[in-house]
Amino acid sequence: MQSLRKLFKIGHGPSSSHTMGPGFAATYVKQKHPKATHYVVTLYNSLALTGKGHLTDAIIEATLAPKPVTFKFNVDIKLHPNYFVFEVYDADNLIDTVSVRSIGGGDILYDNEENHIETVYPHQSFDDIKAYCLSNNISLYDYVKAFEGPSIDVFLSEIWNQLQKTVEKGLVTEGVLPGDLKVQRKAKTLIDRAKATETEAQKQNRLVSAYAFAASEENGSGGIIVTTPTCGASGVLPAVLYYMRHHQSITDQKIIESLAVAGIIGNIIKTNATISGAVGGCQAEVGSACSMTAAAHAYLSDLELEQIEYAAEIAMEHHLGLTCDPIDGYVQIPCIERNAVAGIRAINASSLAGFLSDTRKISFDMIVHTMYQTGLDMHPKYKETAEAGMAYFYKQKK
Ligand code: SF4
Repeated sequence: MQSLRKLFKIGHGPSSSHTMGPGFAATYVKQKHPKATHYVVTLYNSLALTGKGHLTDAIIEATLAPKPVTFKFNVDIKLHPNYFVFEVYDADNLIDTVSVRSIGGGDILYDNEENHIETVYPHQSFDDIKAYCLSNNISLYDYVKAFEGPSIDVFLSEIWNQLQKTVEKGLVTEGVLPGDLKVQRKAKTLIDRAKATETEAQKQNRLVSAYAFAASEENGSGGIIVTTPTCGASGVLPAVLYYMRHHQSITDQKIIESLAVAGIIGNIIKTNATISGAVGGCQAEVGSACSMTAAAHAYLSDLELEQIEYAAEIAMEHHLGLTCDPIDGYVQIPCIERNAVAGIRAINASSLAGFLSDTRKISFDMIVHTMYQTGLDMHPKYKETAEAGMAYFYKQKK
């Protein structure tokens, strides 16, 4: 498995596979061809159908500026769901063609270029990691430190700082999100209402929701977020960690350790399945984020390794089959609300794992495999095309 530095990325929303990945590829092409005069970029499949709502064309154009870019939009289901091709011109001469797959979480793979994939962990499955931890009597956090080195704390601390900044910016920003839907930001209203609630359970629900809305609204407006593990699902983990740090007296160091635990869960999913909505539906994005968050919450609750695994497994199990149908291609409806629901669900999964782990029959590795197979079997129109589900019926209503 790769480093957690490849999983948690700080960058602009609203989409890791539709905005960040294409932005990275455009930077590569620009550096490779400083003398290019113009470009033709063809976006395929999900990138063609939802790219405008996800700002794919905007990020590519801005990165390649001031050279002009002409866009083409095509559907070819034989190709990867997030496929795109740069044709590079010097005057009338086509000097290079660069084909790219955006595989989720901002990661990209080139067809005919060198891909640098460095692995730092010798294990791929939770079972193998668990066996290593148990035989060496170490925690999941110690495991991460053993293979990433002590400097991983510095990296995770930067990630934690950004997660907090994103939540805090979202909490004080009002108005309407960019795009045709004119979605009203709600984080500030939610946090104001949270203060007026009476029971602890209500308060927890409102606070976690407010923090998830805050981070997800920042993402929806193209603000700076962290891929946890993607942009679309970037509200779940910060919502719960922010709640634990600021309302449950958990220290910053313990939060950093829990980020390592969440990262290992995300890495296992990314390595053995997918974290891309265009490949596996929303179960792969928000389902993965919920699973990572449940594991982090279980770690913060001082649960055992088996219970952390169970929390991550429950969280994923109850997202199986979740489709991706963003209305008009914007990462706003259902995405923002869904992040809040997943935050609450992660806490519930961790809480269940705390007292039911002796009876469990499904392993985390099995549920990851199940999620991937379910995603592959899912009809392509339910995987980030904005042509099915709520997106379809919303269009009919207009
Ligand atoms: S529905 Fe889920 S997978 Fe699809 S764009 Fe929204 S958050 Fe991402």
